[in-house]
Amino acid sequence: MTEAMPTRAAGPPAARVLVVEDEPVINQAVTDRLRAEGFVVEQAHDGPGAVTAFGTHRPDLVVLDLMLPGFDGLEVCRRIQAVRPVPVLMLTARTEETDLLVGLGVGADDYVTKPFSMRELVARVRALLRRVERSAALVASGNARVELDGLAIDAAGRRVEVAGAEVHLTPLEFDLLLALAAEPGVVRSRDVLMHEVWGWSDATGTRTLDSHVKTLRAKIGADRVRTVHGVGYALEARS
Ligand code: CA
Repeated sequence: MTEAMPTRAAGPPAARVLVVEDEPVINQAVTDRLRAEGFVVEQAHDGPGAVTAFGTHRPDLVVLDLMLPGFDGLEVCRRIQAVRPVPVLMLTARTEETDLLVGLGVGADDYVTKPFSMRELVARVRALLRRVERSAALVASGNARVELDGLAIDAAGRRVEVAGAEVHLTPLEFDLLLALAAEPGVVRSRDVLMHEVWGWSDATGTRTLDSHVKTLRAKIGADRVRTVHGVGYALEARS
């Protein structure tokens, strides 16, 4: 039998993923699947172990269970994001839990509710990594800085200033703002935003989109993002 793995000779090096999950069966299943997809995977089983593995493994992405021994996924997220911004896919037990976390703006970039299919998990992982690549491509294209009535977006440094003062956005809020800023004043549809920011091709995450628009508005000014009901959102220039 020949190896079924796609050839990677001309591609970028395999992305590194840290899987943090205290249930051994789930941890191993996720790890095995991601390895089969060509990722380099390291495992951790509790909060402190996750922070240590993050330092030694230097992952490009973290799959992070919320409820963990030691300290929980929120604390892990805080500690690792303080070291280096990294996309985080959070595993939660209930949809209500996800809504709560999105509202808190804890810094995770996407959420998967248990039980999830491995296919869905892999799709989310790939979508998150594509977002990071798109940001890098934007920087390379020279469109790295957007200025709009006191709102300054620095795509290279992933920083945002409002009236000269830096505001701290989560990685996902930042990518949403970039997607809106691609065409200031133009309504970007929900489908387009879901696809560009989350890589999803269906509307399953519409609450996620609305929640992130809400937290983004709280940080950059409510009137900067216009809602067009049933259609989408637009980044507004101020007069
Ligand atoms: Ca758990």
